[in-house]
Parts: sequence; structure tokens; C-alpha cells
Amino acid sequence: MRAVVIREHGGIDRLLMEEYPMPEPGPGEIRIAVQAVGMNHLDVWVRRGVPGHRFPLPIIPGCDISGTVDLAGAGTERFRAGDGVVVAPGYSCGHCLHCRSGQDALCRRYGIRGESCDGGCTEFVVVPETSLFPKPVSLSFAEAAAMPLVFLTAWHMLVERARLRAGEKVLIHAAGSGVSTAAIQIARLLGARVLATAGSAEKCRLATELGAEQAVNYRETDFRAEVKQWTGKAGVEVALDHVGEETFGPTLACLAKGGRYVTCGSTSGFEMNTDFRLVFFKSLTILGSTMGSDHELETVLGLAGEGRLRPVLEQTLPLEKVGQAHRHLESRRAMGKTVLVL
Ligand code: ZN
Repeated sequence: MRAVVIREHGGIDRLLMEEYPMPEPGPGEIRIAVQAVGMNHLDVWVRRGVPGHRFPLPIIPGCDISGTVDLAGAGTERFRAGDGVVVAPGYSCGHCLHCRSGQDALCRRYGIRGESCDGGCTEFVVVPETSLFPKPVSLSFAEAAAMPLVFLTAWHMLVERARLRAGEKVLIHAAGSGVSTAAIQIARLLGARVLATAGSAEKCRLATELGAEQAVNYRETDFRAEVKQWTGKAGVEVALDHVGEETFGPTLACLAKGGRYVTCGSTSGFEMNTDFRLVFFKSLTILGSTMGSDHELETVLGLAGEGRLRPVLEQTLPLEKVGQAHRHLESRRAMGKTVLVL
């Protein structure tokens, strides 16, 4: 089978297309014929490498997988050949206290496909039956592969971590990104009010289409001033940020007293330089968040199946164009998700 393989970290030329042996499902496992694999900023980190972090090279990247059941291993019972499925991007031991409490991402053995083990940029993958969810029938394979990581992440950030409530105001950065297009919809579903920031007029338009009450082009307007005006100087109750270094300080300044800052990443850099007095004088809470539980994934897939959340699919590309997909993610021009199809 064909597979995208990263043997060394580096530029786009490190994405190799190779022949790999067909994986065989063991007991409790299922082989999936991959139909689509969603791209995330995580794929860029895996390719470039992250100082101080070891990825298991060589690795097949890609964590958001949809496909059809190809071959069911011994002892599996929930799926039959041909069923449309979505693969959970995260996996954990399944029996430690964190796993049993539904806090999968806190498991010591938690990993993400395509980052800590081989992922879905290939024709076939073998995964445990417990990692599979039925694909919502109303979604295409590409739409389904555009959902898991970003909707799971955004749901966990706003619902589990920040406890966003109806009527609250939330600031959401990088409105064109996958996580933020999911977060705007989830915030609206919860009855919250959204001010989004983005780097272009098109992304601002997308944010309003998705339900943001206001969208600010941060390249032209100081978002702090806009938040101040929007909230009558009070500030927002919640801020969702995965830009990080460029936005951390001014975002803390946008929070109301008692406000919650929630983050799942830091695409602009990891060094936070800010006036820390804001944190204690305003009694702020800083919440880190990574992925979420299988139960939360089932919830967002269910809501998508009912049409109450929708994946924002920007483009589909054939698997061979994985380099083009990476370039697009790195360009910061993305408006929703890029999905590779087979
Ligand atoms: Zn565990």
C-alpha cells in the first residue's frame, strides 16, 4: 500500500511517498480502507520536529481518519465490512483511573495517531475496534475526516475546561483555523456570544457566517479596543487562544475579572511575555487543554449528524498532494480544513 512517511524532520521534501506492507488486524482490531484524512497543524509539527520532543520516526502522519471497514479481526463485533467509520485521533490505555473517569487525555499512555504512532496518510490502517465510531450518514468521508481533532479539542476547551455558559461573552482568536471554526459554532450552540479575530476580511466573513457577533481583522484594528467597546469595558468572560506568543498578553488584558483563558496550542511561539499582575489582580484562570475524551468525540459527531455543528471544509486534495496541504497550513491562509482523499 502507498503511505506518506516522515523519516527525518525538516521541510516539505521530508514527506516521502513509499510502499508499505499491508497491516493485518489482530484480535480486537479492525482494518480500515482509508477514504479521507484531515490535516492539522499537528502534521506540521510532526514534519518539522519540536525542540525537546521525540517523535517515533519513521512515522506515517495524519490523525483524522475516515474510511470503510475492510477486515475485522477476531473477537470484534460492532462493525461489518463496508461500514463507514471515523477513527478517534487519540488513544489511551483504557483501564487506568483517568481512562475510567473519562479523562482519556490525562492517561500516562495517551497518544495521538500520526504523532505517537502511525496515522492515516496511507491506504489502510489497523486500529482497535474501541477507537471506531460510526460515520454520521449525513457527512461525506471528507467532511467526517475534517471533524475529530478540531471539534474534540474545541468542545473540551469550551465545555469541560472553560465551562462556558449561555449569555457569556467569549473571544476566539484565529477564526479561520480548524479549532476556531469549531469553537465559534460550539460557543453559539451553548448560547454564548462570540467576538472572533482573524487576519483577513474573508476569514472575518467566515467567522460571522459561523455565528460570531463581531469579527475583527487584527491586522487592521486593535482587538483589545474592539473587545473593550463590545463589552462596555467589562471584558470577556472567556478567551480561547491557540496563537500564543503573539496574543497571550493582550488576550489576558481582554478578560473580565474572574475570566478564564483557555489554550490548546501556541502556533506563534512558546515564550510568553506578559504583565503577570493581570493574572492575580483580575483573579484570572489559565486553563491548558489537550484533546478530549471518546465520549466528547461521540457527542460532537452526534451533533454534526443532526446538522447542529458543521465541519468547515476548505478543500480536498489527493494524498499525493500532501506537500501542498502542508504549505497551505503554514501560509496562515487556511479557511477551515484541508482534507486529503484517497
Ligand atoms: Zn489510561
